Formats: sequence, structure tokens, C-alpha cells
Amino acid sequence: MTTAWERLQPRLRELTDLATTIKLLEWDQSVMMPSKAAPARARAIATLEGTAHSRLTDPKLGDLLEELGNSDSLDLDQEASVRILKRDYDKATKVPEDLVRALAEQRGHAYHAWTEARPASDFSILEPHLEKLIDLKKQEADALGYEEERYDALLDQFEPGMTSKEVKTMFDELVDGLKPIVDAVLAAVGERPDFLRKNFSTDKQMQFCEWLVKTLNFNTDEGRLDISPHPFTIQIGARDVRQTTRMDEKELLFSVFAAMHETGHALYEQGIPATMSDLPVGRYASLGIHESQSRLWENQIGRSRPFSDFLLPKLKERFPEELGMVTPDEFYRGINHPQRTLIRVSADELTYNLHVALRFEMELQLFRDELEVADLPEAWDSCMEKYIEIRPESQADGVLQDMHWSIGALGYFPTYTLGTIYSAAFFTKAKEEVDNIEGDLRAGDTKQLLEWLRAKIHSQGYRYEAKELAERVAGEPVGARPLLDYLGSKYSELYEVSI
Ligand code: ZN
Repeated sequence: MTTAWERLQPRLRELTDLATTIKLLEWDQSVMMPSKAAPARARAIATLEGTAHSRLTDPKLGDLLEELGNSDSLDLDQEASVRILKRDYDKATKVPEDLVRALAEQRGHAYHAWTEARPASDFSILEPHLEKLIDLKKQEADALGYEEERYDALLDQFEPGMTSKEVKTMFDELVDGLKPIVDAVLAAVGERPDFLRKNFSTDKQMQFCEWLVKTLNFNTDEGRLDISPHPFTIQIGARDVRQTTRMDEKELLFSVFAAMHETGHALYEQGIPATMSDLPVGRYASLGIHESQSRLWENQIGRSRPFSDFLLPKLKERFPEELGMVTPDEFYRGINHPQRTLIRVSADELTYNLHVALRFEMELQLFRDELEVADLPEAWDSCMEKYIEIRPESQADGVLQDMHWSIGALGYFPTYTLGTIYSAAFFTKAKEEVDNIEGDLRAGDTKQLLEWLRAKIHSQGYRYEAKELAERVAGEPVGARPLLDYLGSKYSELYEVSI
């Protein structure tokens, strides 16, 4: 007789394979697909998502999970897998299948509208599609249920177990603590260094990024690096992790730091043991934990003094004319140059989280019915003034700059800052536990650090909720303090200001 666990396996494999197919279609949509194919692709994805939803909500799966929930013959990873899948099942059975299909299709339409609205800098192209999508997201949140705040139901999809109240507490601490640092530092900062404004061949940038991701131990036999307007990383299936970077001839740093950022994501996915690949426990713990890895590689490593000293001579080999005269001091200052900017993805470490805080504030208002979609452009501009003290001159540089809302990723932005908060706590701990990190980074050798991350975080998959995992790694509950300390000491030293 087969055991309940054995009977679960074909179902797990089918769910994994459907997810793999959907992710491949989505990757193709963002990287390769001709734009006119958008409506057909939206329908294909909606069909597959509907199928996956009906497989996940099959009452027989519910019975099987019930039986497994009472079993005492499972090991810890099997137990965790049953617990995770049971929660997926409970959530999925709460959302009607026609709503799932409508959401998938509407996401496709809204994303396509965004790709036209942004270059035209015209929010009215996106507005009707986004309005319909937000309305569907409210229906989804209401179907999923929540205790205090509708937004919690959405946040939980990306950062399980976290509430908006907890996020708000962390964000308030961070924004309050950042204000004096930002004011003091920006008062002391001069012009953006000249060497960043040259023309850098995008072919050479791509060659450099290919070298860089390999140097950081991204395994290209089990992954790819491509170009897309909005860099992202996706684990398609077992041993297939794809990352993208973006290219701008005028901005060398975009591609280099996007590649470091996405490599952080990709190393995390490649570090989850392949033996776990069909099991729910073989997933990442949360998007906040995911982002902690990308931020750690992009900032704590990439923008550190020792690694920048390693990076500059390598860049000079590719760009001898453009960078030949740049000194290590100038380069280090250049890659950390802070400024009040309109665009989140090109914001520096110091001001980045303010961009996230304003999006979190607006999302909360949208789902409390305190803000209409039609009023988003104006609300955006006022929020920018409040947090960053500048006002966008176009909608392309304002409310239209991110694709997230158009793909229904609401409740997602806070995970960027949660990740940054986690990354500072993790790197503080790594410096205590890994020998001579600075020396390694100066030599471009990140193997020891990667091993530490693999042991502490990557290999754990989804054994623990993000909050618990973070606490286990850091040795204490994680708040904004380590990040504020890190930013305070880095920038006070860089610009010789006392904070
Ligand atoms: Zn990221």
C-alpha cells in the first residue's frame, strides 16, 4: 500500500511543472516576446493559472493534506512542506476561479498598457486598466480575509506572516532615523563625478556583466543572463535560474549594480538544494529574504570600499579611455554618490528606502479606499515632495516609473525595504562569523561569504517564516537599527560629516 506522502508526489510534480511553464511564459514575455503577442500571451498565462488553481483546489488534495497533517511518520522537511501546501490550499480555495482568471488576464492588459503609457508619459493610457486591476485586487484581498487591514491580505502573499502594522513600525523607525543622516550628508555632497557621465558601449558593458556574475559564482550551466528594461531574476525550474540586467550607454553603473543585485537573487535560488525542488519547503522564505540577498551583494559588497578597489581595475581593462584617470577614492565616492532623485531604481543606498516608504503609504491608502486610482499622479507628486523633497516634471518619471502596480504586485514594495533591513543585520553578523571578509572582498573572492549565506539562509529553503529565519541568522529580532548604524557610519566617513 502506498503512503499518503507517496500519493502526494505526483500532485506536487504536476503543480511544479505548471508553475515552471507559467514562469517560462512570463520570462519570455519580459525578455523575448514581440509586443503584439501580448493579448494572446495574457490569455495563455490566464488559462494555465486557471488550471494550476483548479489542481491546487482539488478537494482530494485537501483530504490528502488533512491526512498528512495528522501523520507522525514525516521528517521535518516533509512536515514543513505539508504545512506550506496546506496554507496555499486554504488560500486558493478562498479565491473563486473566475476571479483568478480575471486577475491573470487583467494583469496582462495592464502591463501592456504600462509599456505604452510610460514612454508616452501619459497615465491616462494605464488608468482604466489599473482601476479594473485594483478593483480585482480588493476583491481578492476580501476573499482571502484579514484581521485588521485589507492590505495585510496582499502583503501576506509576498511576506508571509508580516502585517502592515509591523511594517509601519519598522518604516517609521527607519524614516525618522534616516532624516538627519540624509540632511547632513546631502548638505555636504558636491556635484556627481564627471567620469560617470561618459559613453560606455553597451556591448562592453554586457561582456563586463557576464564576467562579473561568473566571478561572483553565478553558475551559468544552471542559469542565464539576459537584458530587459526592468532587471529581474526568476527560478524557472530545477537548475534553471535566469537573471536580467539593463543597459544604458550613459550610465555604466546601472548595468553593473543591477547585475550584482540580480546575482544576489540568483545565488539564493541556486543555493536552495535541487533535492528540494518539487517540495514546497524548497522555496524561498519570503520576498524580503530574497531582497536581503540582492541588497547584500549590491550594497554591502558591491558598494563597499574593498570591493570597489577590486572592481575599478577590472573596469579600467574594459574602459581604459573612459575610466583611465579615475582614482580609487573618486570611484568609491562615485558609486556611492547620494542625491535626491526621482527614480527609485537609480536611487543611492541612502535615499532608496524613502522611495519605498512613499509607495507603501500610497498602497495603504488605495486599499483603505482613501485614494482613487485617478488621483494617483497627484498623490505621487505630493508624496515625492514629502519624502524626497523634489517634484517630478513628467508622469514617466513619477507615477509611471515602476511596472509593479500594472502586474498586480501590490503589497510588494515593502519587501524591498524589509530586505534592506535584513541585509544589514545579516552582513553585520557575517562580519562577526566569517574570517577576514574585507581581505577577501579586496581580492574579489566572495566564496567564504557565499558559503556562510548558503549554510545560514539558502539551504534552509522555506523551513522557517522570514521573521524567524532572520532572527535565527542575526541572533536577535531584526529592526531598522543595524541598517541605520551602517548607513550612518558609511556616509559620515565618506563625506566627513558628524551625524
Ligand atoms: Zn531585487
